[in-house]
Amino acid sequence: MFWQKDIETINRRNLESLQLKRLQQTVSRAYKNIPFYTDKFLEIHMKPKDIISLRDIRKLPFTSREDLRANYPFGLLAVDKEQVVRLHTSSGTTGKPKAIFFSKKDINQAAELIARCLVMTGTTKGDVLQNMMTYGLFTGALVMHYGAEKVGVLVIPAGPGNTQRQIALMQDFKSTALHITPSYALYLASVMHNEGLDPRRDLSLRRAYLGSEPYSEETRSKIENYFGIDVYNSYGLSEMNGPGVAFECIEKNGMHLWEDNFILEIIDPETGETVPEGEKGELVLTTLCREAMPILRYRTRDIVTIMPGKCRCGRTHRRISRIIGRSDDMIIIRGVNIFPQQIEQVLMGIKAVAQNYQIVLEAYDQMTVRVEISKDLFDGRVEHLVSLRNEITEKLRSEILVRPKVELLEPGTLPVSEGKSTRVIDKRTL
Ligand code: AMP
Ligand code: ZN
Repeated sequence: MFWQKDIETINRRNLESLQLKRLQQTVSRAYKNIPFYTDKFLEIHMKPKDIISLRDIRKLPFTSREDLRANYPFGLLAVDKEQVVRLHTSSGTTGKPKAIFFSKKDINQAAELIARCLVMTGTTKGDVLQNMMTYGLFTGALVMHYGAEKVGVLVIPAGPGNTQRQIALMQDFKSTALHITPSYALYLASVMHNEGLDPRRDLSLRRAYLGSEPYSEETRSKIENYFGIDVYNSYGLSEMNGPGVAFECIEKNGMHLWEDNFILEIIDPETGETVPEGEKGELVLTTLCREAMPILRYRTRDIVTIMPGKCRCGRTHRRISRIIGRSDDMIIIRGVNIFPQQIEQVLMGIKAVAQNYQIVLEAYDQMTVRVEISKDLFDGRVEHLVSLRNEITEKLRSEILVRPKVELLEPGTLPVSEGKSTRVIDKRTL
């Protein structure tokens, strides 16, 4: 099951020489057409011709999201405005957004990458994809939409929310695949459960693509078991087209990152130095095929590792692990570094835990984990609740090494998110 077999299984030597050629072209174009890069190169006395091997990428300056904001709106555009056919902005939480431009060629290329991802996981003509990501300025839904259409899939542009209508659409049009955030998938499961629906009996789903926010293996299993489907991890960011940067194949063991389109580096976020292969660090990406907006060495802030060895599926593009955390998401409690995903992983591994939780940080490094638990546990037997709370507290303590306060809540107490969810409320800085 390949969309572009030659390029997906290209041998490493050919892949690397293709990367070098494309890197040289990208660097020349950026230097010539984007004053921001011209200045940066002059500062470090560098010329595009200094890129002789792939290793020379390390001489290039990094691009940060602050650079994207500072150059808003048109500063990083490498082509005439007339060549731009699409604008997206990235979900910035503070200050100015980041503008991302696509030429016709860029739209087509982003769709090609999605087509590879879908076909690699078995989705093909005849499938019905219900796209529950947000349509609009956000890249998530539209980029997937175009890629799925390219494959010949029937796409239902449902967008997120309106859960009753989602269920009706899935039933009426026999959707076989979903594109959805993990938090909304868990919510959808809880609504169906409460209405006495059984996805295995009442729906035609076969697989779901989950991305746009971090989640754990435990959450994947929970969703797979509930819906009776295969769940594939989908990674991307607006600055690099949106979805389709890295995607799991049917082995479900790391996400192939399309290295003919992006050069990947893993660096130590503190020093900026490359870490030895296999160690975790911040993912840095350089676009190789983007026309309207090439970006050099973009610091994603996402912490990952490169998976060792070859993949059984035959693809040669290296795989990155699940996103371990974002370098700016890390919580420091009493001197201990904690990623919210560690907490999620523990919670989703406990059967009595429902779909929603929240981490609240307060003065003096107090951490409270507020967890919704199954309705049936509120049966009036206090001892049940006490022992569950103790179990959750202990499991969290052994994972994150600090003992949080655990609060058990009835399902539906915490706010539900349809897009990216906010799990951590840090009152220490308010
Ligand atoms: P945006 O710029 O709004 O497209 O958001 C991109 C960010 O979402 C990435 O940098 C990641 O932090 C996060 N993200 C996207 N996909 C995943 C995924 N599969 N797992 C974890 N985090 C993800
Ligand atoms: Zn594979």
